[in-house]
Amino acid sequence: MKQKINFNAGPAQLPPEVIHDAAIAVRNFKKTGISILETSHRSQVFQDTVEESRALVRKLCGINDDYEILWLPGGGRMQFCMVPMNFLSAGKTAGFIDSGYWASEAAATARFYGDVKILASSKDSNYDRLPIWPEVPKELAYLHITTNNTIYGTQCHNIPDVKVPLIADMSSDILSMKRDYTKYSMFYAAVQKNLGAAGLTLAVIRKDMLSKISNSLPGMLNYKDQATENPLVNTPNVFGIYVSLLMLRWIDEKGIDAVEKENRSKAELLYAVLDNSKVFKPIVTVKADRSLMNVCFTANTPEIEKSFLDACEANDIIGVKGHRLASGFRVSLYNAISLEDVQTLIAVMNKFEKQITDPVAPPKKWGR
Ligand code: PMP
Repeated sequence: MKQKINFNAGPAQLPPEVIHDAAIAVRNFKKTGISILETSHRSQVFQDTVEESRALVRKLCGINDDYEILWLPGGGRMQFCMVPMNFLSAGKTAGFIDSGYWASEAAATARFYGDVKILASSKDSNYDRLPIWPEVPKELAYLHITTNNTIYGTQCHNIPDVKVPLIADMSSDILSMKRDYTKYSMFYAAVQKNLGAAGLTLAVIRKDMLSKISNSLPGMLNYKDQATENPLVNTPNVFGIYVSLLMLRWIDEKGIDAVEKENRSKAELLYAVLDNSKVFKPIVTVKADRSLMNVCFTANTPEIEKSFLDACEANDIIGVKGHRLASGFRVSLYNAISLEDVQTLIAVMNKFEKQITDPVAPPKKWGR
């Protein structure tokens, strides 16, 4: 069967090599004679998998043993709960930069546990840009940011140093580029975009943060217990952790610099088409704030949008419909999307635009 090009925002396309190796492990995990789906989380082969994954996270993020590397259940939203459960309490305040839907959801969840201060927001312009970086009060328990805004297509490319613990949701741009990860007291990412299969979250926490956690949280929800016992507080997502290890190996083999270079080239190509189009319009016009990961745009009319989706489908391209809150289109350019995938999409866009803008030959049937 011919593989489609999957530009979905997550779960997202995975590299064919990763799918291949994951499929082998489903049949026979590391030549053990049993499937990874049957493998005990207490077995040595699985312990080795976790250790290798942690070493690769440290290597690729440029961080040392000062950080705990945890694989946790519950996706990104579970971290919206766990971060304030562990680091916020009555009488304390957490600061948030409201750069989009996920940032505001993280803030709304934190309100269950303590005071929340929105220090800056771009909600008034429907998140079509990043808010101006604010003054950060020194007494905050932490400052929470979302490095990439999956729905609206903005991304923080420069993050100033702050004097309070900085905690980042990196769900949609983790390991897509080189970054100074040592700036962060904690960062986390649901892995179903750049780093694996849905249902698993990578949480990286600097060890000094663990001493701030009260002992009155149950083990599953307590980073301290998770750090001491992980991955054994409960039966973890054995298969998901292995798929993330395969993604980490894939990134490592390619090299994080090469991954970043390709991600930049893919985004540049696509934004150049949008900036020069008579049919498509980029949603984020502040170029410095544009996401390399989620490119969001609209077309002139709803009819044209519908025909373009048909054109994509006829060319085995899926996942370009925009999020319901932003409408239009969203093309997600995560690590596993190749330059060729983007060039194929651009060829379809160019052909579509030519037919739309050429009154002599209106589009009738879409196909290759
Ligand atoms: N944060 C960001 C930036 C996201 O894009 C998403 C999901 N798209 C989430 C959090 C929520 O992740 P999950 O669905 O795994 O809970």
